[in-house]
Amino acid sequence: MTATVSMGLCARCAHRRDVPTRRAVFVMCRLGLDDPAFPRYPRLPVTACAGFAPEGAP
Ligand code: SF4
Repeated sequence: MTATVSMGLCARCAHRRDVPTRRAVFVMCRLGLDDPAFPRYPRLPVTACAGFAPEGAP
């Protein structure tokens, strides 16, 4: 899936995982798998997030 602006921060976040279904592609936050402070499926667009980590950052 192509990251879009409508995702907000998740579009550029290393913790995002795209979950394709037949009807849509859902955005899953991998931080949410282990940390209840983060929703597993965040409400988009995410405009502020303490876990945001830019994709491709060293
Ligand atoms: S850490 Fe925040 S910005 Fe990154 S995928 Fe999860 S909810 Fe989105």
